[in-house]
Amino acid sequence: MSNYILETDGLTKQFGKKKAVDKVDMHVKEGEIYGFIGRNGAGKTTFLKMIANLLHKSDGEIKLFGSTDLSKSRHKIGVLIENPGLYPAMSAYDNLKMKCMMLGIKDTDKKIKELLELVGLEKVAKKKTKNFSLGMKQRLGLAITLINDPQLLLLDEPINGLDPQGIVEIREILLKLQERGMTIIISSHILEELGKIANRYGVIASGQLVKELTRDQLEELSKNSIQVVVDDVAESVRVLKKLNITEYEYHENVFNIYDTEIDRAKLNSTLVVNGVLVSSIFEQNESVEDMFIEMMGGANYV
Ligand code: ATP
Repeated sequence: MSNYILETDGLTKQFGKKKAVDKVDMHVKEGEIYGFIGRNGAGKTTFLKMIANLLHKSDGEIKLFGSTDLSKSRHKIGVLIENPGLYPAMSAYDNLKMKCMMLGIKDTDKKIKELLELVGLEKVAKKKTKNFSLGMKQRLGLAITLINDPQLLLLDEPINGLDPQGIVEIREILLKLQERGMTIIISSHILEELGKIANRYGVIASGQLVKELTRDQLEELSKNSIQVVVDDVAESVRVLKKLNITEYEYHENVFNIYDTEIDRAKLNSTLVVNGVLVSSIFEQNESVEDMFIEMMGGANYV
C-alpha cells in the first residue's frame, strides 16, 4: 500500500477546448509540505479545486487518504483558495466563531483562542477584520481552515502579495502545522517563497505536471558541476579513475563531474596525454531558480 495522502492519476480538467489541467499524476506523502509551482494561469487553482471537490474533473482519478470516494475525505481537508471570505465588520474572534457555528461546533472558546494564538492574532482578536493587513487576513483565513482539524491543507497562493515579514509569518505557521503531522499543499508562482519549507515540489506548466522532485533531488541538481565533452568515453573513465574522481555521470560523450574542487587544467592535460580529445571543459552553475523558470515554460514569466 502506498503511503500517499494524495495521489492523482491522469487528472484532467477541460473548459471547452482548453485543458486547464492535463493528465496530472501528483504524489503527496503524509507529513509533507508540497510546493506546487507554476506561472499564473498554469492550472494550479483548477487542480486544487478538483482535489477539494469544488470542481468536477473531466477525466482521471483522485485518491485521497487511499480512497477515490472524495465525499469520505472532505472533512479531513482544509481549503484556502482565493480569498478567505471574511466578514469585514466582524472581529477575528467573531469570524472564527461564525465559522464554528456554521460547522456545528460547540464549546468554541478554547479552540478559537488556540487558533488565534497559533496564527499570531491573539492580541487583535477583537479588532474588526476590515482594519487588518493582507497578511493578517491570510493568517485569519488559515485559522478558519484549521477549525475542523484537517489532516490535509490545500493553500492556493497564500503568500501572494504579502510583504517579506508576512511571508515569514505564514512560513512559520506552516512549519508548526507540519510538526503536528499535517500534510500541506501550497501553490505559488515564486519558487523562493516555497524553497525554504517544501519537502517536495511539483512544477506545472500549461496544465501539465512537468516535474516532481524531492528537496534532496533538488539539492543534488543544484550542485555545481564540471562538464567535459570528450571523444573517447571508455578512456575518459579510466583517466577519471586514475585521478580518483568518483562523483560523476556521463551521457553519450558528455561527463558531469560533481567534485568542483578538482584541478581542471590537470584533468584536461591528463585526458589529452591519454589520447582523449577534449572539445570543451567548463563549470556549470545553472541556478535552481533558472532551472525552475525553464521548467515553468521560459523566462517570460512574472
Ligand atoms: P492563477 O495563479 O492566475 O490563478 P493558476 O495556475 O491557478 O493561475 P488556473 O486558475 O487554474 O491557473 O487556470 C488555468 C487555465 O484555465 C487558465 O488559462 C484559465 O484561464 C482557465 N480557466 C480557469 N477556470 C476557468 C473556467 N471556469 N472557464 C474557462 N477557463 C477557465
